[in-house]
Amino acid sequence: MMEIPKSHPRYESLMRREKLVAGIEAGITSMQGLIAHGRGEAFDYLIGERTMDSALQATEVAAAILCDANKPVLSVNGNVAALASPEMVALSRLIDAPLEVNIFYRTEARVKRIKELLMRSGAKRVFGDMPDARLEGIDHARGLVSHDGIYTADVVLAPLEDGDRCEALIAMGKKVITIDLNPLSRTSRYATVSIVDDVQRALRNIIKIIEDNNLSRNADLDSILANYDNRKILKAAINEIAERLVNLEP
Ligand code: ATP
Repeated sequence: MMEIPKSHPRYESLMRREKLVAGIEAGITSMQGLIAHGRGEAFDYLIGERTMDSALQATEVAAAILCDANKPVLSVNGNVAALASPEMVALSRLIDAPLEVNIFYRTEARVKRIKELLMRSGAKRVFGDMPDARLEGIDHARGLVSHDGIYTADVVLAPLEDGDRCEALIAMGKKVITIDLNPLSRTSRYATVSIVDDVQRALRNIIKIIEDNNLSRNADLDSILANYDNRKILKAAINEIAERLVNLEP
């Protein structure tokens, strides 16, 4: 990866680009993933590259749901692998949840490389290389999942997910937590909880909340969920972005 001085005003953002380019070179990220990143990056620019209050609220609810889940599964695609493998693995170990490689532009070689990267990063269980179940209504390769992983999970954390798959998971009765910088995406609108934040920032926040609060299965989830309205959180995210833009000096 290119050496970027920490003092550079766009250090974090440039590092993300470097990681994705390294992901392409290592055969884990798709070219289309670069374009998807560009869309996210544009939103992050408008957000101000920070965690918004609304995102933090969603993150707290996500942490409670993950801790209370019977069978949580963490879904990893090529961009997530390049940008946040250590964080995905750390979370999976913290809550004892398996990871599942689930990619849009599937090739068996890419799945294998992502699995190997996760295992090298300390993952204990990684599904996805031998899919044996299908998501209803999703065309062939994109709908492939593991029966003992995503197919039978009650909670799926699916960062940078695609709207159709998110909808299919919700239709199966699962709770879906997504991390997506675009509050207008179909994924953000369909998910049970949408965290409008960068994937690495959001995962670090989830981990910190669980560690700091010693969250466990007896979290008072019913009342947390009863008071949570995902549409309201998305609206709040849009308002936070708009307010920042209105007050920005060119
Ligand atoms: P949808 O089907 O949900 O409308 P989409 O077609 O807009 O999704 P995809 O290409 O399927 O988008 O998914 C990429 C999504 O991930 C985009 O919405 C983009 O904003 C978001 N994204 C890209 N990079 C990041 C990142 N680093 N952190 C969080 N979200 C990101």
